[in-house]
Amino acid sequence: MKPYSPVHIISENSKCGCSINLPIRGHCRPTKNCAACCYAKSGYTRLPASMRKQIYVSRYLASKDISRLKEECRAKSAVRISGTGDLLMSHVKNLVQLAKDLPMVQFWGMTRKLEIANAVNKKVPNLRILLSVDGTSPSRVWNYQGPMCWGPRIATDQVKDDPRIKTVFPYHFVGRVVKGMPRHAKDCKAVWHEISGCLSCGRCWSWS
Ligand code: SF4
Repeated sequence: MKPYSPVHIISENSKCGCSINLPIRGHCRPTKNCAACCYAKSGYTRLPASMRKQIYVSRYLASKDISRLKEECRAKSAVRISGTGDLLMSHVKNLVQLAKDLPMVQFWGMTRKLEIANAVNKKVPNLRILLSVDGTSPSRVWNYQGPMCWGPRIATDQVKDDPRIKTVFPYHFVGRVVKGMPRHAKDCKAVWHEISGCLSCGRCWSWS
């Protein structure tokens, strides 16, 4: 039987445009709030076909030849990394090379892992990762001096007034912010359905 291979390695979605989706299992290191609110635990990304593809993509991103992914990314202006799941250290080498090879494509995303943020940021100008934190993150995350995002923001959270935090993600479920959520000045406007999506925004990768 022919080994499984998806039609496309990158996935399309209405908010980010396109993303490289990875598995949760064996990849994420969630905080308490992240585990409780995770958007990738339900819906389309939990379908068996999506999960199969996520496992494939993770192995592929750590493999010797990522030429197919490179060709798919070449046609894009921005590619979200870890649209679901999280990166592994075994992905970093290929990711940095991918960004180097395609300087006209913006690669961006989030990670919960300090070691990934440290390994990826400041290597290539068009590869930018936010360290994702929330009200239940371990205190050591605040030693990180690079850019961050806060999410999920639950209604009782007091988000630190910290210039490292570029974007805040209010807790949302199946595409809607949960009831009773107050606004925060740094909230992602796409989550509130005030803009069409990341390609018309760019805040998560436009930091200096
Ligand atoms: S702040 Fe902008 S770039 Fe970041 S996730 Fe929201 S829409 Fe996308």
